[in-house]
Amino acid sequence: MSRREELRHHLDAVRERIAAACAVAGRRPEEVTLVTVTKNFPGSDIDLLADLGVTAIGESKDQEAAAKFSDEGRRARVEVHFVGQLQSNKADSVAGYADVVHSVDRPKVVGALAKGAARAGRPLTALVQVDLGEATGRGGVDPSRAVDLADEVAASGLALGGVMAVAPLHGDPARAFGRLREVSEDVRRRHPEAIWVSAGMSGDLEAAILHGATHLRVGSAILGSRPPLR
Ligand SMILES: *Cc1c(COP(=O)(O)O)cnc(C)c1O
Repeated sequence: MSRREELRHHLDAVRERIAAACAVAGRRPEEVTLVTVTKNFPGSDIDLLADLGVTAIGESKDQEAAAKFSDEGRRARVEVHFVGQLQSNKADSVAGYADVVHSVDRPKVVGALAKGAARAGRPLTALVQVDLGEATGRGGVDPSRAVDLADEVAASGLALGGVMAVAPLHGDPARAFGRLREVSEDVRRRHPEAIWVSAGMSGDLEAAILHGATHLRVGSAILGSRPPLR
């Protein structure tokens, strides 16, 4: 089977899972955006995915993403979502190619991204990453600080998209996504436009859809298990 065929099969399977979960949740599949996370896979896979109709690509490391999207033709074909932990000294680079940053969890990153986006002359949507506990070390602001950080994003000139979280490695993803939904409601009381909820990965996308996710970040279920970067 060619790589293209393999990706097509995996994509079909994931789209079926999304459709089935939406049916259970009483939601329309159009409400849910699939972001295909291609970290550790070569840029040629992004090109094949774009051929197969994928419109949103996720990356988690600046150096790797910057290299892949230095190809302007590739960059122009997809919406680029940065989903990994972000240091403020990388924000300028990320703002040069990303359309959306899912992982804003500190005021310092907000300022750096806003400056980078202004310098690049590009619009940038930012999501507030929320830490759902268990000391996962995967980044995120404490839920009690999420609204304050959302205020800072909105005041910075970035477009506030909504909230994002990674479910704890151990524990019930449904519980975590339920908590994220509450945080989203708190944020939307002050920022009604910030309706995105980025939640759900290969292993827990059904639970995320059931709890109101608008964006799924799916890697291994589409690309396969992660090889070292070639
Ligand atoms: C890698 C990654 C994903 C995709 O995870 P899979 O389990 O491979 O689907 C989603 N979100 C973030 C933040 C990631 O780093």
